Amino acid sequence: MNRRTFFPTAAALADIFAQELLAQTPASRRKTKHVVLFTSDGVRWQDLFTGIDPNLMNAKTAGMADAAALRKQLWRPTPEERRAALMPFFWKTLVPKGVVFGNVNKGSSMQVTNRYRVSYPGYSEILTGRAQDDVIKGNDNIQNPTPSFLQFIKDKQRLNAEQVAVFASWDNFKYSAESVPGAIYINAGYQRSALPRNSARADELNKLQFEARFIADTSRHDAFTFGLAMEYLDKLRPEHMYVSFDETDDWAHDRRYDEVLQSLQFFDQALHDLWTWLQQSPKYRGATTLVITTDHGRGSTLADFSDHGPKVPGDEQIWAAFIGPDTPATGEATNTATCYQRDIAPTILDLLGFDYREYSGVKGKPVRGAIESSQA
Ligand SMILES: [Zn+2]
Repeated sequence: MNRRTFFPTAAALADIFAQELLAQTPASRRKTKHVVLFTSDGVRWQDLFTGIDPNLMNAKTAGMADAAALRKQLWRPTPEERRAALMPFFWKTLVPKGVVFGNVNKGSSMQVTNRYRVSYPGYSEILTGRAQDDVIKGNDNIQNPTPSFLQFIKDKQRLNAEQVAVFASWDNFKYSAESVPGAIYINAGYQRSALPRNSARADELNKLQFEARFIADTSRHDAFTFGLAMEYLDKLRPEHMYVSFDETDDWAHDRRYDEVLQSLQFFDQALHDLWTWLQQSPKYRGATTLVITTDHGRGSTLADFSDHGPKVPGDEQIWAAFIGPDTPATGEATNTATCYQRDIAPTILDLLGFDYREYSGVKGKPVRGAIESSQA
């Protein structure tokens, strides 16, 4: 056998340089073509990362009086086992494929920067990459003065309104998700979805949502939001989508921890159904990043787990997960620099290959560790 000596040719050197460039994955080489954002309102990091809470699970005043079966179903000796029992798809399938930030117990902190820590300021911070404390001071239905990052993407990619779709349980999204009514497609609260047309499934859900009223007049059951969103996805194949659940917050305010847990189980089921659907679609498979987060935290004790806002300690702590072709599969983040709710929009823009700094007035920056080879 001949021994071969290796003198790299000019062509080989060029190849090595090309590989080096690829390894840095500049924004223009991102694989993410579509983003699906999925939130559930006021989901505590404590429940997401440690499962059913031992301080709440036996408390009559937390609505757990008649929840023995649920306790049995969800209680395990360790936090890792408990969270997998509560949200099995999130923990066993999604997290290993991506990254989740916000487990304070393991040195990862994600925080809101708006001073109010209620829903509209939180969603606005997610949707615009900044706190707007002087304008959005609470949950009043005022039109967002700032174009959302969804509008930014729509304009940059020259999309129709229907190609960027928001389905939300809470009616306030008509105001938070766009600065100009009609800029993108929004279906929120108790509202018929005009699209897709000629869909027996959408017709049925449009009707049923008004018949099966939820405890809050401003938000419908998450099941209708999700059903309409999936039907829209299936029939219209939008470029980008945002699905927003609300029940986790409504039940917590009612001090029904049992129902909070069951809403989280439905959230997990919906993530399963959505992700499974995306993986079976040639358009979305391998080209879609799923971002999962929440608008605010809440209290950590039996007295205040139900509540949030400026007077509740610790409710600035939130969490976010990123799963997609441009995110390293590092799983649960530990010992990270603190990141912020305002960083979510810039991270999404970066994942889609945009220079996030072109989004006027943005305050956040891409989350370090959410993007492959991220230097951010
Ligand atoms: Zn709330």
